[in-house]
Amino acid sequence: MLNQVVEVIEAKRRFAITSHIRPDGDSLGSSLGLFWLLRALDKDAEVIMRDPVPHAYRRLPGAEQVRVTPRVDRQYDAVFVIECSDITRPGLLDLEKQFVVNIDHHSTTALFGDINWIDSTASAVGEMIYNLCKALGVRVTREIAECVYTALITDTGSFHYSNTSERTFKVASELVRAGVKPAKVSQAVFANYPWSKIELLGEVLSTVRRDPSGRVAWLAQTLEMQERTHASDEDGDGFVNYPMGCGDVEACAFFKETAPGTYRVSLRSKCDVNVARIAERFGGGGHRNAAGCTFQGTWEEAERQLVAQLVEAVENRGANGNGGGTNAGAGGAGERREAPPAPERQGVERDARP
Ligand code: 5GP
Ligand code: MN
Repeated sequence: MLNQVVEVIEAKRRFAITSHIRPDGDSLGSSLGLFWLLRALDKDAEVIMRDPVPHAYRRLPGAEQVRVTPRVDRQYDAVFVIECSDITRPGLLDLEKQFVVNIDHHSTTALFGDINWIDSTASAVGEMIYNLCKALGVRVTREIAECVYTALITDTGSFHYSNTSERTFKVASELVRAGVKPAKVSQAVFANYPWSKIELLGEVLSTVRRDPSGRVAWLAQTLEMQERTHASDEDGDGFVNYPMGCGDVEACAFFKETAPGTYRVSLRSKCDVNVARIAERFGGGGHRNAAGCTFQGTWEEAERQLVAQLVEAVENRGANGNGGGTNAGAGGAGERREAPPAPERQGVERDARP
């Protein structure tokens, strides 16, 4: 709970902050926001991550100080673990030997910390870091504000997604008051891509397909495409959102081949279609409208199994507890685990492109 987090910060002095592998805008923005908050209190703090800071977030204040390490190799008074579903998500060895403070806004997170502060009403963990500033009486500096603002705009899809609330705008407005230049941050995060990403997008978009109903779409990125376009591992980030721009599409999967026989799957949906449920069945997780998992197997199996589940989720939306009024998906008993057969290949339309 928040008051326990406040107590730990006030009582201790040597902290580390970490988040999940392949960090995104909320994990990095919130981690660095907390880093600047702790520095404002004259505490020892460092951000440690298993994976390097992606290109889009290198301009965040403090990004260059993130220490990339496979192991928690120092002893801290406490380690903050930001937006992780379980203690293995940071991918850091020996993390469990530390005093762990779990801070997350996923309602499905495991309570793996010695302290657990979970607020599933927060649009991003960044919003929680802002609240923590207020609770500790720390002035929101420009550094804190830029980091937290980045967390907000990435996790809400620039205030497009259903987790965007009145409070999100209130916090965003306070951050602008503290010195954030919205256009500058958006430019750094959303309009700063390398050309390789544009070329890769061209290849990946040419794979897009949809089911006969037109409500489920999917697209894929192979290792070959990545090599051909000299793309980095992060260049495919966000590609899952393109088919969602079509009014008919209610759910989408993006399959990214990361090694032969291994696919990182990103799932997105609209309204009450719950893709977190689907990701959880494959060992992943996330929110109702944005989730992910890793699939081991052939491309045909990955496509057949995931697409069938998406088709089922869209057909049964609102039934079987697949709906729900919250943004975060919650696991539930009594859900159907067997998927209907995948749509026939020849029945799958290719999206017409101009
Ligand atoms: P993305 O598709 O952008 O990689 O992930 C979307 C969201 O799904 C993330 O913000 C995170 O909440 C969740 N997510 C993605 N992959 C995983 C996974 O492997 N495990 C869990 N627990 N959550 C994931
Ligand atoms: Mn988040």
